[in-house]
Amino acid sequence: MTQAEANRIDGQCLCGAVHLQLSDHRPEIGICHCMMCRRWSGGAYVFFTAPADSVRISGAVTTYRSSPFSQRAFCPTCGSGIYLRDDESDEYELCAGLFDHARKFAAISEAYVDQRLEALTLQGDHKRVTAAEYEEKFPFVPSADLPDGRA
Ligand SMILES: [Zn+2]
Ligand SMILES: [Zn+2]
Repeated sequence: MTQAEANRIDGQCLCGAVHLQLSDHRPEIGICHCMMCRRWSGGAYVFFTAPADSVRISGAVTTYRSSPFSQRAFCPTCGSGIYLRDDESDEYELCAGLFDHARKFAAISEAYVDQRLEALTLQGDHKRVTAAEYEEKFPFVPSADLPDGRA
């Protein structure tokens, strides 16, 4: 088995209309607690990444432009989140829960920890960054620009 074959994993949305096949991926979990991710996911956005050219999606997804530089995709039938992708990025951030295989992935980073639901205090010694630390380095949407924009 080649390395690429070893990395092949499959996932699907709740209703099964959207199926994903990855020929490669990075088996590490990122978590985001920003307001957009809280609203989109219902708690925290839990994801891992895969190179764009290794992602095959069958079944129609609906995309929502959640910022001037990124969009989020979901299944129009069951509403499962599928991915978040920055326009300039050569990778997808995929919703980890779609992939049974991802249950084994360890968390590597948590963003917007100061804005998380207090119930979601995660164990482990992975990297944690606050909203201010994140926003120093990456493009973001000021919370004032969001509908009902209170962080
Ligand atoms: Zn679905
Ligand atoms: Zn977020």
